[in-house]
Order: sequence, then C-alpha cells, then structure tokens
Amino acid sequence: MFDSTTLEDVRPAAANPQTQPRRALIKSFGCQMNVYDSQRMADLTALDGYGEAAGVDDADLVILNTCHIRERASEKIYSELGKLRELKEERLKAGRRTTLVVAGCLAQAEGGEILRRQAAVDVVVGPQSYHHLPELLRKAEVRSGVIDTEFPVEDKFAHLPPSPLEATARRGVAAFVTVQEGCDKFCSFCIVPYTRGAEASRPVGAVIDEIGRLARAGVREVTLIGQNVNAYHGLDRDRQATRLAGLIAAAAAVNGIRRVRYATSHPNDMDEQLIAAHRNIGALAPYLHLPIQSGSDRVLASMNRRHRVRDYHDIVAQIRAARSDIALSSDFIVGYPGETEADFGATLELVRAVGYASSFSFKFSARPGTSAAEMGEQIDDTVKVRRLATLQALLEDQRQAFNAGCIGRRFEVLFEKPGRHEGQVVGRSPYMQAVHAEGPLSLIGALAEVEIAGIGPNSLWGRIVSPAS
Ligand code: SAM
Ligand code: SF4
Repeated sequence: MFDSTTLEDVRPAAANPQTQPRRALIKSFGCQMNVYDSQRMADLTALDGYGEAAGVDDADLVILNTCHIRERASEKIYSELGKLRELKEERLKAGRRTTLVVAGCLAQAEGGEILRRQAAVDVVVGPQSYHHLPELLRKAEVRSGVIDTEFPVEDKFAHLPPSPLEATARRGVAAFVTVQEGCDKFCSFCIVPYTRGAEASRPVGAVIDEIGRLARAGVREVTLIGQNVNAYHGLDRDRQATRLAGLIAAAAAVNGIRRVRYATSHPNDMDEQLIAAHRNIGALAPYLHLPIQSGSDRVLASMNRRHRVRDYHDIVAQIRAARSDIALSSDFIVGYPGETEADFGATLELVRAVGYASSFSFKFSARPGTSAAEMGEQIDDTVKVRRLATLQALLEDQRQAFNAGCIGRRFEVLFEKPGRHEGQVVGRSPYMQAVHAEGPLSLIGALAEVEIAGIGPNSLWGRIVSPAS
C-alpha cells in the first residue's frame, strides 16, 4: 500500500544542508532481475543529483535491493540493516544524514514489519513501485517510515527514465533486460507470485528500443530476463501478442547486438517456436537454463509444477535435436516436504541422464504464505544437508567434465574486461564459462575465436585463433 500522504502533500526537496555532493550506494541481493532493477534505481538517483558512493561510509543514501526467495536471504538483510543502523548513528554524530531504503522482494513481502524490526529504515519500496523512488525520498526528508508496496496499474517501465548512455557504457558489454515480470504458476514452494505479482510482459517495441540504446552504448550481448521469461507474450506495434521466440529474433536483429540469451524458463512454456529459435537464430547462445527442481513425479506434482519427468526429457531431446551443442543448466530443491530417499534417488538419476554444464541447488526453505510451508512431513535439516552435498558433488563432477570436454575446442568468446594479469583479457564462452586469453584491451566488446587449452576451477583459458570481429 502507498502510505496515506499524497505526493502533493510533500514539500519540495529541501535544499540539502550538507555542503558535500550527495552520494548513493545500491546493494543488490538475489537474482538477475534485482541486478537490472538496481541499475534502473541508480539511473533514478543519478537524475536526483546523487553521485556514486564508493562504499557505505561515504553514502548519504543506501538502498538495499533485497531478496526473499529463501529464509537465509531475508535474514542476511536484517543483519546488514543492523550494521547500517550503527553507521547511520555514527554519521549523524558527525553531522551527516543517511537515508536508508529497503527495496525488492523482502520489502514487498514484509512491508511495515521491516520498520518495526529496524526503525532506522526510512523508506520501504516494493519491486513494482520503485519508479516512485524520487518522491518517496522527498517524503522521507520530512518524516521517516515511508512505505510503497503497491502493485500499481501503471506500467513501471513507462515511468522509468531511459538509462543514460555513459552509465550504460560503464556497466560493460553484456546487459540484462527485463522483458517479463511476475508469475501466475504458484509452485507450492515459491514466494515470487506474492512478491512480484501477476505475470506481465513488456511491449516488444519498448524492449527493442531499450536494446537499441544499449547497443549504441557498446553492449554486444543481451540476456532477456523474467521470473518466467518463456511465458513472454508482449504486444507488438500492431498490438499482436508476440512469444519469446519472436522477441529473440527482433533482439538479434538490433544493430550491434551479437549474442542473445534468456533466463529463466519453465519447462511448460518451451513452445515449438522457441525450440526452433535455437536452430534458426545464430545469435542465440547455445545455453539454456531450464529448471526442473526434482526428478520425482510425486514431488513435481506436489510442487504444482504441472509436468512429469518424462515431459522434461522430451523437451530436452527436442532442444538437443534443434541444437546439438546446447549446454543445459537447472535449479534443484532438495528436502521438499515429504521427499523420500527414493524421490531423492530419482533426482540423482535424472541428473545422470540429462547431464548439466552448470546448475543451482538449494535446500527447501519454508516461505511464509506458500502452501509448501504449511505441509506436514517437513524434512530434517541434517537430511537436507546430506542430500544437498550428494547432489552438488554429482553436479560439480558434471560441470568439471563439461569444462574438460572443451579442451581443444574452438568457440567464439565475447571479451568483457581486462584480466588479472597484464596483457590478459577475459570474456564469456557461448556456454557462459569465463575464458581468459592473452590479448590487447582493444578486444573488449569484440568476439574472437578461441581455442581452449586448459581449465581452472572456475574458468577456462585459451589462445585467440581468429581476428576479432
Ligand atoms: N521460474 C523459475 C522456475 O520455474 O523454475 C524459477 C525462479 S525462482 C525465482 C529461482 C529458484 O529458486 C527456483 O528455481 C528454485 O530452485 C529456488 N527456490 C524458490 N523457492 C525456493 C524455496 N522455498 N526453497 C528453496 N529454493 C527455492
Ligand atoms: Fe516461482 Fe518459477 Fe514456479 Fe513461478 S514458475 S512460482 S517463479 S518457481
């Protein structure tokens, strides 16, 4: 809810009594959507006259863009807020005011509870209303405890200023673009439908205009993101609904864009066109994050995933038929309520059958308000810890095997930044691995073919074998 003072009631921003220029620090927790939202908030605060703070010590405004997906993520924020309260008091003694904002999914889920638990917080703003941030900050100048966790009917994106070219250029050659938000699937364990709201897609034109601006600022790779990105159904300029495959084709056609990715996808929304896009669109990277969560049909049904293990195998087979070199990744949850040793064994079996290049795996965390949190047969933490360790060991073996299989292969690397050693540059392979190579800094922003010569624990290294393009 937007709090009761109307925006007109609020006095215009009082001249800042502090003589030094104001600085803002935005700390992003959780998913790629939050990284994107943090950048858009940074654009807003820059327009409001804030420079970038180097750290909390010199920040007049601190925004924590929070995550609520698992209990640990939320607890981390409260401990961070405790430290910030002390810092705020210290700075006040030195005559400097610090405004503390909690944004993101924890803000949406807990709203006023955050102010009760930590009175030092000035503003609580949800992920669908952060375009109101400048007004909320002005309100916070006259009184603390301002809350906006509305799901406004207006399109947030239409109210956000375009990112300035210089800020975009500083952020690098690969960028996220949110194209879809929210979720209507209500998996039993997941808080997203409650924190991000109903599923909504941005119009094609708005997304493509944004990608065009990114390309003009030097971005060469875009990842189209959404909580459930392949449910995308944005309207085109003729007001026709466009599925994700159409949006990928349009993004790939933007002048300057060399590579397109998308995340995160639900197996049930992998439609024929999207699978065909992996065959037909050269710029679409051969890497797909397709979470299954569990290899047990019984658990999948209880999770409300609405597909079986067999359906997932069918989709994987179709994708591999369309693009034989595709690398797969997934999310897994262990210790879901009622998960037996046999269910867990089925997850291990699925992992062995599919083979993943990378993955994310978590212990089930009961989220207040979700149906799984209320279920009986909650699994003991020691069992969760053991299952997670077993699963992660298998997934890590697969990741290392995938990386080892890259030795001797040649593929295009998009160089993103200087390496740690002089004369070295680092980029990303089509399969999302970090790749180091000897080469000039002028390679940054270019694609070059690299022959992979070796692997480290978290990256590959190789030799550039073609001129950059
Ligand atoms: N939309 C994606 C899908 O359908 O798979 C997932 C998006 S969700 C934000 C990211 C991941 O967090 C999920 O795939 C799941 O593995 C994990 N996750 C979500 N809720 C969780 C919970 N309550 N406990 C543990 N992990 C959870
Ligand atoms: Fe959460 Fe993904 Fe399920 Fe939606 S589809 S409820 S985002 S896990």
